[in-house]
Amino acid sequence: MEFTCGKTHSQLGGVYVLRRHISFSILSLLFLSGFFTCNLNAQVSQKPLALGIPQTPSLVGDTSTLAREAQGWLVELVKINTTNPPGNEQVAAKYIAGILAKEGIAADTLDLAPGRSAVVARMRSSAVADPSKALLLVAHMDVVGVDRSKWSVDPFGGVVKDGYLWGRGSIDDKSMLAANLAAFIALKRGGVHLNRDVIFLGTADEEQFGDASIKMVIAKYWDKIAAGYALNEGGKAVLGKDGKMQYVAVQVSEKVSVNVTLTVTGKGGHASTPTKDNPVVHLAAAVDKIGSYNTPVHLTSVVRRYFEALAPLEDEETSKWMRVIDTSDRGEHAQRFLAETNPMWNSMMRDTIAPTILQAGFRGNVIPSEAHAVLNIRLLPGDTIDVLVNELKKLVNDPQVHFEIAPEGGLAAPNSSLENNFFSLITRVCAQEFGGVPVIPFMSTGATDSAQLRLHNVQAYGLRPFPINETDDARVHGDEERLPLASLPKGVDLMVRIVAEFSASR
Ligand SMILES: [Zn+2]
Repeated sequence: MEFTCGKTHSQLGGVYVLRRHISFSILSLLFLSGFFTCNLNAQVSQKPLALGIPQTPSLVGDTSTLAREAQGWLVELVKINTTNPPGNEQVAAKYIAGILAKEGIAADTLDLAPGRSAVVARMRSSAVADPSKALLLVAHMDVVGVDRSKWSVDPFGGVVKDGYLWGRGSIDDKSMLAANLAAFIALKRGGVHLNRDVIFLGTADEEQFGDASIKMVIAKYWDKIAAGYALNEGGKAVLGKDGKMQYVAVQVSEKVSVNVTLTVTGKGGHASTPTKDNPVVHLAAAVDKIGSYNTPVHLTSVVRRYFEALAPLEDEETSKWMRVIDTSDRGEHAQRFLAETNPMWNSMMRDTIAPTILQAGFRGNVIPSEAHAVLNIRLLPGDTIDVLVNELKKLVNDPQVHFEIAPEGGLAAPNSSLENNFFSLITRVCAQEFGGVPVIPFMSTGATDSAQLRLHNVQAYGLRPFPINETDDARVHGDEERLPLASLPKGVDLMVRIVAEFSASR
């Protein structure tokens, strides 16, 4: 069903059945994409835009008007402070419902907790929905908190300055909300005849994964979002130091976050007469052993594919080791080299354990009777927490230290397929949008809403359609988060095209 080189123009012309005929509407030009695919290299202009993003002619007509509107929505969304906790996503949900209402699309706000709602809207393909075919566009409305003293602008001011939109959520994840809205609205404005339902979903409580999260939406409102496919955050469009697009990573899998609490009890008492069972000493020794422990490397199929595809893009030394990561003679050295080169690569190869909280004592001259530490563990999908905790118990080898696995940890989900038509389509359209760069399957070390969807048989793929360099990427969840404005039209164009090509009748 996909466009391939070799089809004639006229064969492609009847692909989309439009309810209305709007000449030069964004989507009525979609049929040209198959034709242009064959000539992609010839079309790519080398003339750089601001920030060095290569100019690639849109294959679906002009989405620049939508991109300008999306920028306006994004500015307004950043101004709605949805710091979680407490979230207050209901305000953002209502704002989004208002945008959709202006387009004649009815949206539901789904109440999850006081002040906290998700927002959902559906474009129907037929009177009887087939959830197994439906496409869900997901983005979360909540954001992590800020340390205002570290920001040069108001993080909730929607400030546009020096070619950037500054603000908490400008990348994570309100940019995706705006791009999803644009793609959804493009279908409506284009009067596209759909081959599947397309569902827009703005989620709450993604950053804390608590009682107002997608878990609750699935539990209470599954019929409103049931889908076979989803697009969500979790991937990357990576800009190099030279300002050129390097590659697109499509998230198909993610690590699983679990907290484990260590508790040490002892006699406690006057600090002038210390004894050997001081809980502070036992806890410190346990954390030290755990902190310097390297869990065994386990290369998942997705991670193997990732290194294989990334190798040609890296410098000679890194590339050499990536190519032999799985060999019996040089694999071990390669794994060590890559783990030391990049903490994300390290985390992609093994379960990681990060001690994050230490709690003990209340007076300088009193030995406390209890001490606690929290370990944040990120498991590779397929690994189990019980097995790892048993290993840690053996390592610590101290009967005074007790381990407790937090019950609300994430659940491992199966990978999304690398073989289905949707993944092929995403790969092809991303490559077209960004001048033929490699499109690489990716396992994120962080968690997203996609795991919950994958557990419900949804083939969920993580993108971040906006080309962003390492420096700006590092600002996500940090200080001075900002989206390069030049990346916005590319992101919107990409999302419009993926969604339209996948869901338009042909
Ligand atoms: Zn996010």
